[in-house]
This record gives sequence, C-alpha cells and structure tokens, in this order.
Amino acid sequence: MKSEIVRLSGPVVVASNMGDAKMFDVVRVGEEKLLGEVIKLEGKDAIIQVYEDTAGLRPGEPVFNTGRPLSIELGPGLLQNMFDGVGRPLVDLAKLSGDFITRGLVAPTLPRDTKWDFKPTVKNGAEVTPGQVLGTVKETALFTHKILVPPGVSGKVSGIKAGKFVVTDDVCKVGDEAVQLFHYSPVRKPRDFIRKHKPEKLLYTGKRVIDTFFPLVKGGAAAVPGPFGAGKTVTQHELAKWCDADIIIYIGCGERGNEMTEVLTEFPHLVDPKSGRPIMERTVMIANTSNMPVAAREASIYTGITIAEYFRDQGYDVALMADSTSRWAEAMREISSRLEEMPGEEGYPAYLASKLAQFYERAGLVDTMNGDEGSVSIIGAVSPPGGDFSEPVTQNTLRVTKVFWGLDAGLASKRHFPSINWLSSYSLYSTGLDAFFEQKLNAEFNTLRHKAMTLLQKEAELQEIIQLVGPDSLPDAEKAIVYTTKQLREDYLQQDSFDEVDTYCPLEKQFAMLKVIMDLHESILASIPNGINVSSVNSFEATALVGRMKFKKDYEPEIKKIYKTFKKELAELEAQE
Ligand code: ADP
Repeated sequence: MKSEIVRLSGPVVVASNMGDAKMFDVVRVGEEKLLGEVIKLEGKDAIIQVYEDTAGLRPGEPVFNTGRPLSIELGPGLLQNMFDGVGRPLVDLAKLSGDFITRGLVAPTLPRDTKWDFKPTVKNGAEVTPGQVLGTVKETALFTHKILVPPGVSGKVSGIKAGKFVVTDDVCKVGDEAVQLFHYSPVRKPRDFIRKHKPEKLLYTGKRVIDTFFPLVKGGAAAVPGPFGAGKTVTQHELAKWCDADIIIYIGCGERGNEMTEVLTEFPHLVDPKSGRPIMERTVMIANTSNMPVAAREASIYTGITIAEYFRDQGYDVALMADSTSRWAEAMREISSRLEEMPGEEGYPAYLASKLAQFYERAGLVDTMNGDEGSVSIIGAVSPPGGDFSEPVTQNTLRVTKVFWGLDAGLASKRHFPSINWLSSYSLYSTGLDAFFEQKLNAEFNTLRHKAMTLLQKEAELQEIIQLVGPDSLPDAEKAIVYTTKQLREDYLQQDSFDEVDTYCPLEKQFAMLKVIMDLHESILASIPNGINVSSVNSFEATALVGRMKFKKDYEPEIKKIYKTFKKELAELEAQE
C-alpha cells in the first residue's frame, strides 16, 4: 500500500503505511516532494517534520521514504559558501528559483562543476581506515582541505590518481569501494574520533575582557546570554572575525532576515589581520532566518556542528558560533507542541536540557582518526526574553558550558562595550590557562590579571559605601582602588569594536596595558606613607595617556611617556603635601 498524508499541523505531517521507516529517515512529502524527516513512529504511521513551507499540502498526497538519515555532503566547496538549515547552497537555490525559494527544490550541498586539484598522500597498497587522510586539495589560498576515508570504509588503497577532479569523480578505491572527494555524514550523530583531551590552549580573541579575565580554550564551550541590544550579535561577529581558529562556522539561527543580511554583506569585505586574506576563505555560513521554516531551523544546529566536526577531523581548530540558540529551542518547542508532547518548563519540551547538552558536548579537543589533534569550540548566544537569565534555555546552557559571558543591559545603555559584566561572568578555564600564559607571554600576566579582578570585585563592594557616605570618607588605600578600577573599566574592559586599532588587542598589548595600569596602582599605594593626597591623582595626565595607548598600534612610546609623566606628577604631589 502506498504511503500518504493523513493529517498535518504546520510543519508536522502524519503519513500512513510507513511500516518500513526508521527514526530520522529522510522522506519526500507530497506532490512537490518537500524535504522531511521521520521524528516519531506510531505503529505504521510516521510523524514527519517538514523542512519547507507546508501551506497547501493536503491529506491523500503521497510520501516517499529515502531510507537514509538526514545527512550532509562533506568535501571541498564548503568554505566561502552559505547554506540553509539542511545544507542546500543558498546562492544556487536563488539561481534556480529566484530570491524566493520554490518548494521541493533539490540542490547538492557541494558544487558539481568545480574541479579540484587532488594530491594523494598515500600510495596504492596502503591499508587505511575511516577518517585517515588520502590526499589534499588546496581549497582556498591558505586552506588545505584533507580528503578523508569515508566512515564505514576500510581496506587497501588501489588506483589512486592525482589530477583535477570534480567532487563526484572517483579518485581511488578503498577495498571494493570507490572513493570520491566527498562523502555523506549523518548530522544527528557525532562524528568518530579516538579520544578527547582536556583543552588548555587559549582560543585567542583579541578582546581584553575575554582573553584576560574570562578566556575560552580551543575545544571549549561558551554561552553568551544577553537581553536585546546588549551586543550578542556584535560579540559573535567579532569573535568570528578575530579569533585564532583555522575555520569558522557561523550559524544564523532564527534571527531576523535583515540582521542576517548585515552579516552576509559585511563578511565578504572582512580581511583576516594575520593572513591578509578575506575572512570568508575560512568561513562556512548557515543561514536560517525567522521567516524560514521552523523545522529547518531545528536542523541547522546539527548541520553546522557536523561540518565543524568534519574540519576538526582534518586536524584543524574550528570555532562555531550559533546565534541564537534560543531561537533553536523555540523551534523545538513549536514542533513538540505540534506533536502534542507533555510540555516542560515554560512550554519547552522535557528533553530541552538533554538536547542542549548533546549539542555542547560535541565541542572538544580530540585525537582524530588520522592521529592528529583537532578541536571544535562552540560559542552559543542565548536571548532570554526580557533579559531574565533564570529562564530554562539560559539555565540549561550554563549547566553544560564552562564559560559565561553575561551581557548586561545596564552597561550597554552606558555604552560600555563589550557589555560583559565582569562581576557575574566566569570562565572555569581561567586558572587552567596560567601555564599557557606563562609559557606564551609572561608569568607576571597571571599575577596581574588575578590582582586586577580582585580590585574590580573590591570596587563593587566599595561602591555601596560610596553611595551611602561619599568617596571622600574612604581611606587612602581604598581611594586608590577606586582610581585604578576606573582606569581598568574605561581603558581596559571597554573596547570599541568599531575602532580600527582597538577592536583587536594582541596578547602582548593586553599584558603591556594591564602592567601599566597595575604598576601605577602600586606606585600610588607606595606613595601613601609619604602623604600624597590620593584624591588629586584623578586629574593626572597619565590617566589620559593610558586611555590613548589603546588606540595606538605603536604603543611602546606611549608607555614610556606614561611612566615618565606619572613619576613626575606623583613627585610633585608628594612635594606639595
Ligand atoms: P543583540 O544581538 O544583543 O540584540 P547587538 O549585537 O545587535 O545586540 O548590539 C546592539 C548595538 O550595540 C550595536 O548595534 C552597536 O551599536 C552596539 N554594540 C554592541 N557591542 C559593541 C561593541 N563591542 N563595540 C561597540 N558597539 C557595540
């Protein structure tokens, strides 16, 4: 008997006579063959989520089972490209159907006409297993794409050839299987690796508040919750631009179309400061805006993380940005309610926590099947309604991520950017990075960053006293804290993303800036027994110099000037007293 639609509700369709279907099989629904996936089986009925607009679909229309799980093509051609939630290339779809995507369109993820220059790295007769490298393709000017033995394929290599091929050409045989430049990988299942390690290398971002105080590691996961307008999107873009990962996967998940357009128009113009090459050459984008079908949004997270793992398996460091995971959770909520499942907290399905955990657990630093080291770091934006961090998506995310950059509406409204609240944010990787900083930079950096944070916390306590009795009643040592933390807040924590120089602060410069500010603090403390009036320090010219130092590429001369001016000013003040 033929399978056909018996009921539908939004993106959820019930089909009859689907006895042979398995969970997560991909199906084609209706005369227009809309793409869908089996998400529940009830006897011979299959419940299907459809990735395209289901308007106009009627009971009685046919349903076809492909028998394959939702998968993505992985191979050369992913970089510089943009896909929808199920891996269809948006530019090609637009060419096929214009700006409004026609339903049921099938377009392969990878271009079929591009020829890639394949250079084998193994010889005929070599024994290989899944995930091992067969050869390379220069995908962009600086990126070498490694062609991997597909999952489930192993044996002796034969007939391997060098030359120019399209992704579907056979380049060798492994055992009896012909191997091409690409393979399929199911998206809902993590890709294989040998073992995970404890990540302890900094994922360098060039943002002072992050690298110095709340650092993320290669293979770690961070949550960026913040109310509307607090700077989640800017933070995600900035990290995509500046962080030192080899590959960036950017998932625009359920955000408004115009916000995504900003990303799409901005990214192609950006240049990597280290290589001088366009940033797009190391970027894959997945766009699923709020007006696109909700089920495809649910899938976009899996598509993105699978692509990330694929580059990790080639031995690269990958950073994945998801903006916003709240929209993803809302897609799950919508589908769950269509399925009439028992709702959990705030209407989200009871499995919300485990889905979030499964996603973030796919981050990590691993030994790949080829014996290299590769990592996936995840930075997930969360948009809690009304900025209330106690809601389920934020809470369940914080349970599984070790870094929390809490964006603060109060700071944003004072134009303190990045609006990362230094009192509520944390990074559980911070102390673990002491050894890394000591080796790469200087042991003193660790002492300084821990001291500076202690001062900032102390200042928060002092603020309560200041509010009550005014700053003049504070003892001199505490006045010095207020002076120094003002400098830390205004010159160190604040960093303008739109300033050409300050948007990107190298680690050496972070150290230099922090050292200057903290040295001045020590000098003030040392001068207190000599009777200086700490209140007058506020008007020091050195204060302005510190602020200027951050906008200068060549900041070394500024440092010399600061120390000189400061010593002079302090001596003059002491002489007056
Ligand atoms: P959200 O995604 O949380 O709604 P956005 O990232 O769009 O917020 O940020 C809102 C506005 O705040 C931006 O348009 C920009 O003007 C300002 N902003 C945010 N972060 C920064 C930053 N790091 N530097 C300068 N301005 C910023």
